[in-house]
Amino acid sequence: MAGKHGIRKEATKQLVRKMLYRAAYAPTLGEYNVVLQELRAYKPKFAQWVHDNEPEQWAKAKFRKERWRRLNSNVIESWNNWMCRLQMMPVSWLVSGHLEKLGKKFGKHKDDIDKWVNGVGEHIEQKIADTYKKMGCVVVVECYNMMLGEYSVILTNSRKLVVKLGSCTCACRKWQMTDLPCNHALVVITKANL
Ligand SMILES: [Zn+2]
Repeated sequence: MAGKHGIRKEATKQLVRKMLYRAAYAPTLGEYNVVLQELRAYKPKFAQWVHDNEPEQWAKAKFRKERWRRLNSNVIESWNNWMCRLQMMPVSWLVSGHLEKLGKKFGKHKDDIDKWVNGVGEHIEQKIADTYKKMGCVVVVECYNMMLGEYSVILTNSRKLVVKLGSCTCACRKWQMTDLPCNHALVVITKANL
């Protein structure tokens, strides 16, 4: 009996964790509200918990632009990780050790950049390649302002989004959040032969 109860509890935990992740990473308020509705329907106390725990501090849809892509706020941990054993050393050693590490890091970055083929690193190139695979969700592309590079796209689920090439934005907000064009923008860019 206790075993079954434990399994059920674990499944509930997993489900709620998944929904909280979706709430935290939802790019738009609309998508965030959908998850909150699901949470409320599942158990009102979880939605209330989100409401009571300052979602504007951890839910992407509620961030202002300058918080995007900086989800790790633990500066002290990053510093400790970077300094490692140097932290225990006298200040002059600490400074010279830090500068030496920094020099090596810059050197490595420069070497890595020299290997770039298309103006971006391997990791970003892979991300764009993965986004290309998701272009099939766009069924209609219409240009409504050629000068400003403004397009509307209609998705397979009938959702309509506006892509603005001039300002590098898409109504799905992923382009603004990651600085990498989303699949909707890639469709437009491809269609406009850019
Ligand atoms: Zn988009």
